Amino acid sequence: MSMKDSHKLFLQSFMSRGLLDAKEVRQLYRTCCLKFNEKYAEKEEDQKAHLLEFVRTINRNIQPFHMEIKKGVSEEEGKSFYCLVCTSDTSITKLASDYTQPEMEFFKRLIESIIDSDNGEIGSTSAINSVDKLEKVNKKLSKQDAQNLLERLEAQKWIKISRGRVSLATRALLELEQYILEVYSNITDKCNVCKRLCVKGQSCDSCNTKLHFHCAIRFFQNKENPRCPNKECGVNWAHEIPNRSTDVEMPSTQQESRKRKTRT
Ligand SMILES: [Zn+2]
Ligand SMILES: [Zn+2]
Repeated sequence: MSMKDSHKLFLQSFMSRGLLDAKEVRQLYRTCCLKFNEKYAEKEEDQKAHLLEFVRTINRNIQPFHMEIKKGVSEEEGKSFYCLVCTSDTSITKLASDYTQPEMEFFKRLIESIIDSDNGEIGSTSAINSVDKLEKVNKKLSKQDAQNLLERLEAQKWIKISRGRVSLATRALLELEQYILEVYSNITDKCNVCKRLCVKGQSCDSCNTKLHFHCAIRFFQNKENPRCPNKECGVNWAHEIPNRSTDVEMPSTQQESRKRKTRT
């Protein structure tokens, strides 16, 4: 099916905004359909399926241009997001239109440090200081440059800075998932439940099996004695299972959630 006016308007919004949360997507979908008097599922139960089909139609049409509206879940709050991603260029060079070569080098190093950290986050001071370790490409970045760059990366939703800690935001996880899994295959993990890249989450003390917080909630729901989902392991799951209603940021579990990596 080709795109109607509603699809086109929806896509245009994505092109200018990049990343939208599920609520914004539902609102946008409603606005686009109503504007052109096109079919809109009022009932909540029909809406989900209709929206899914709506996005699929767009994806089928933009696939030849190597683009896709991809859905993902934020690792911290478990909220759903939609992001327009480029599928032909999975590497970090897709940032080249917005960032210079030395800036991309800095971001690459930042990604590596975050992935290699225990909790999927690093201190902003150590992030800024890492410019000293960068090889000189064209022009060397100063610490002030690094500070400004962190702010820009945050404004463009690539990273999240909270209480002086830097972590990867949902946009980076969605757009750079392939890149991260390929380039850092020896230090990355996939979630045992959803099989997608997992940077922040809980891991098994015995076999390193990893779960996103929101996947752990779902997986261990109504299970009295939580056990490692890896069938060959099955040891007790030694983490407090976050409670969906109360743990928005889940700070208490984060600290111990990521065991030191034993792999070398
Ligand atoms: Zn997961
Ligand atoms: Zn295990």
